[in-house]
Amino acid sequence: MNERKKKIIITKAIIIVVLGLVLGISCFFSKPIERALGIGKKETSYVEGAKIDENDLSVNFIDVGQGDSTLIILPDDTVMLIDAGKASAGDKVVSYLQEKDITTIDYFILTHSDEDHSGGAKKVFDEFDIKTVYRPFQISVTKETGEASESEDLEEYLDIYGSKINKISTAVYRNFITAAYNEEYAPGLFADVIVHSEGVKIVSKDSTKPFTFEFFAPLKIDDTPVSEHSTKTSGYPTKYYSGSLAESNNAASPIMLLEYKDNSFVFTGDAPEVVEEDFLQSIADKESVKERFSDVDVYSAGHHGSKTSSCQDFLNQIDPTYTVVSCGKDNSYGHPNQEFVDRVNSLTHRVEDYLLRTDTMGDISFGYYDGQLVGAENDLVIGQLIYVANKSGEGVVIYWWYIALGTFIVLSIVIISVKVSKNKMTTAKRFVKQTEKVTKKLKD
Ligand SMILES: [Zn+2]
Repeated sequence: MNERKKKIIITKAIIIVVLGLVLGISCFFSKPIERALGIGKKETSYVEGAKIDENDLSVNFIDVGQGDSTLIILPDDTVMLIDAGKASAGDKVVSYLQEKDITTIDYFILTHSDEDHSGGAKKVFDEFDIKTVYRPFQISVTKETGEASESEDLEEYLDIYGSKINKISTAVYRNFITAAYNEEYAPGLFADVIVHSEGVKIVSKDSTKPFTFEFFAPLKIDDTPVSEHSTKTSGYPTKYYSGSLAESNNAASPIMLLEYKDNSFVFTGDAPEVVEEDFLQSIADKESVKERFSDVDVYSAGHHGSKTSSCQDFLNQIDPTYTVVSCGKDNSYGHPNQEFVDRVNSLTHRVEDYLLRTDTMGDISFGYYDGQLVGAENDLVIGQLIYVANKSGEGVVIYWWYIALGTFIVLSIVIISVKVSKNKMTTAKRFVKQTEKVTKKLKD
């Protein structure tokens, strides 16, 4: 090998190594590069790579497609699950909890009977120890006879309220009721099934980390506790809303407020406008409650962002920073509805950075920043309420390093192949020359 060839090879090797080094080092400056190029994930309310403190409160909106399931790990280490998505989402909910090493659910709240909330409950009961169940005042009946299903503990109310009670004949709701009252599913659970209504409260078991989780709807309609008409249930009968079956079912949903530190979270299941208005009226002269329901940090949008929930009065009252919509990709209901989006957009925190959707962002978790974020600049303060999600929700995200790595590989190939093609060229020239020589000799 002559000196010139050696030099060329060394130069090429140096170029490739330098390019590789530049690429490697630039990985540590990914955020400034993304910012400079104007690509990558949006940052205003989201910092990639940030983690939430696993030893403190976390509110996790599980991506269950079209449906709802929210896991709350409370500051006193107790575990709450609000709804469990459709039956087909049961496995996802179970694995999501198992990945967090959860074995016991201290509070299982079923907002209402609809399949997209109750369907996965049976699988959850199969896999975890459930300590307390909060159920809606909806009576499980059989389709054939209209009588209470076998495990239903509130059957007396069918006689007490007659037609003015919400009767549910679906198999998924019957499965939930069976699981909630069945000794096999829930050993020792009896008498820990509670009908949710205004006034029901869950407080911290750890006095150093006080929080309050409180129900404000549905409204009670009777001051006689259900325990007078049941053997295994406590709580109070709640208001019945007539209308279509779907409306009536959705209206069994509670309005719930979680307060911890300076933060507040509101959950409303599929509660429609009529429930929101009733609630607002019930707190109209309660300034302290109105105060608690103002400037909410996170609002789990009622009924997956349907236009029939999140009425303007309710939104104006809570004026949420973040609004989270749990819905399926390209769902047939058109959730979140444009009218709902427009209403959210009229608030202080408009939709652009503050409307989060599970269909585009996957699982979304709120919690407190743990202070550990390697390799990126950020303005986060330890203990600040942040959210993390699977995806940024900004559509197709072009990572700058995909481009950089692609360019590196292409350049390397070009640099190497130039040499090869040059060699080929000389070989071809040599071949032509030799052929010419041979032809010449033959001619001679
Ligand atoms: Zn729903």
